[in-house]
Amino acid sequence: MAKYNVHGGHNPAGRTACGATGLLNESKEDRKIVKALIKYLKKGGATVYNCTVDNGKSQGDVLVKICAKCNARSVKQDFSVHLNSGRNDKKGDKKVGGFEVWAYSWDTSKKAVANRCRKKMKALGFTDRGLKTSKDLYYLKHTKAPAMLFEICFVDDKDDYLLYKSIGADKIGKALAEAILNKTIKTSTASKVIGNIKAGAKVKIKAGAVYGGISKGKKVPTVYLGKKYTVTKVCKNNGQQEALIKQLNSWVPTKYLIIV
Ligand SMILES: [Zn+2]
Repeated sequence: MAKYNVHGGHNPAGRTACGATGLLNESKEDRKIVKALIKYLKKGGATVYNCTVDNGKSQGDVLVKICAKCNARSVKQDFSVHLNSGRNDKKGDKKVGGFEVWAYSWDTSKKAVANRCRKKMKALGFTDRGLKTSKDLYYLKHTKAPAMLFEICFVDDKDDYLLYKSIGADKIGKALAEAILNKTIKTSTASKVIGNIKAGAKVKIKAGAVYGGISKGKKVPTVYLGKKYTVTKVCKNNGQQEALIKQLNSWVPTKYLIIV
C-alpha cells in the first residue's frame, strides 16, 4: 500500500516560529486537520508518517527538521498543511478566500491529486484558488518525494472562519484523504448505535450507563464499561427497551449499548 508523509506547518501555537493567527490559529488548526487526514488515510489503507515538528528553534530550524523527517523515509507523496493569511476581512464580506495548492512544479500525477483536492474542497464550500507554483518555498524545494502544500483557507477572513468552523477539521481531513487516495473512505462501521440490538449481539456498555430491570437507575460500575458482553434477550422493561447482559446477569437499557 502507498506510503505518505503528512505534516502541519510551523511550530505549535504560542511558540517561536508558530503559524499565522487571526480568527483562526494556523498551528492549532493545521495540526487538527493533519490528525484527521492521517486517520482517514490510514482508514483508506495507506501507511502515513506524521512529519510535524513541535520543537523548532526558529522558522528555519522548523523547516530543516520537517524536511529531515520527510526525507528519512521513501514515500509516494509528501503533504504539508497550512492556513493562509492576508485577506484581513474581519467583518466578513460574504466572499470566502478559499483553498489553494502549491508545488515546486506540476507534473501529471501531482496535478491529478491536487485537482481532486480542489474539487473536494470546493464541494465543501471553499472557493478554489487553483494551483500555485513556487521555486522558493523551502519545504517544496528540499523534499525528495513529490510534495505539495495545502493552504486550506484564510485565518483572517470572517467568511473562511465561519465556513471552516461549520465544517470542522475532521471533514476537511476526510475530504483530502479521499482525494489523495482517489476513493471513498467508509467511516467506521465497527460500532453501530442501537436499533438492531437483539439476542446474541456482542455489545459494550457506554460510559454513564445505568442499569435497567429491578436495579433501574443504579449506575453501572466503570469496571464493567468498555468490555465485550453478549445480549441474552431484549425486552421492554420499565417503559424502555432493555437488554439482558449474559455475563452480568443484569438488565441494561439498549440506549447505553454499542454493538461491537
Ligand atoms: Zn503557514
